[in-house]
Amino acid sequence: MDNLGSNHNADNGINLVPMSEAPEKWLRKQYLPHIWCPGCGIGTILRQVIEQFTKLGWRNDEVVFVTGIGCTGRASGYVNAQTLHTIHGRALPTATGIKMARPDMHVVAMLGDGDGVGIGGNHFIHAAKRNIGITAIVVNNRIYGMTGGQVSPTTPSGAKSSTTPYGNVEPAMDVSKLALGAGATFVARAHTANPVYLGQLIRRALEHDGFSVLEVLSQCPTYFGRFNGMPDAVQMLEWFKSNTFMAKSPYEEKEGKIPVGVFRDDKETPELSKSYRQLWEE
Ligand code: SF4
Repeated sequence: MDNLGSNHNADNGINLVPMSEAPEKWLRKQYLPHIWCPGCGIGTILRQVIEQFTKLGWRNDEVVFVTGIGCTGRASGYVNAQTLHTIHGRALPTATGIKMARPDMHVVAMLGDGDGVGIGGNHFIHAAKRNIGITAIVVNNRIYGMTGGQVSPTTPSGAKSSTTPYGNVEPAMDVSKLALGAGATFVARAHTANPVYLGQLIRRALEHDGFSVLEVLSQCPTYFGRFNGMPDAVQMLEWFKSNTFMAKSPYEEKEGKIPVGVFRDDKETPELSKSYRQLWEE
């Protein structure tokens, strides 16, 4: 594992906006500025993740932060914790091995939609089925961003991408429904236009003892937005506000809008690494 240790003394001459205690402790400032495009939603999500690490009082060396490949995958480079930047779609099997070997660690995987439920889709299903104690934050910007805006499993039907210039003819995969169907014991959806609520759901997902999935609708103005008439990040945030509603199930319907909220919070099903240890001791 890679722990670069404290970055408090790092000074690369970059004039950063003054930060609160959370980013100071949890960011490797020597690797800033980040690579994400102006207006990208990934930074908003990562900011809330490290804010919740601080509020939970977790130490840097007891958090394992795992990512795959893609724009979201770059997050592991910036988080001052035990981090692994793995291969495409394989963040969850890596995180599973870590959790089984070290059940005392807080294991968090941050995945893009293509990484999480496309290339890594089978791993996602089996992590959910096993109820392994990992928090999976799925950044759903509905496109493959890093590689040029190709169609992803969550690209809506009719939406344009670099590989569907006349509109996607496939239906979109619903990350939250998939997580529920596969057996994840905490499932929720939020979006980046309401960072306070996003932070609350991240906290609940992090505290959950089992496989927790938080799907976050996030803006990619560079590709999804530009291809679909919303090249400005603010337009995309306004779209999230206008096209979502609070719900208790991803199956609720309301004027074609997207449900957000907590869809499952099962505290009874045993977590895998604990069940395994118990059996081993018996
Ligand atoms: Fe964000 Fe899209 Fe840029 Fe990737 S390509 S950093 S997802 S805005």
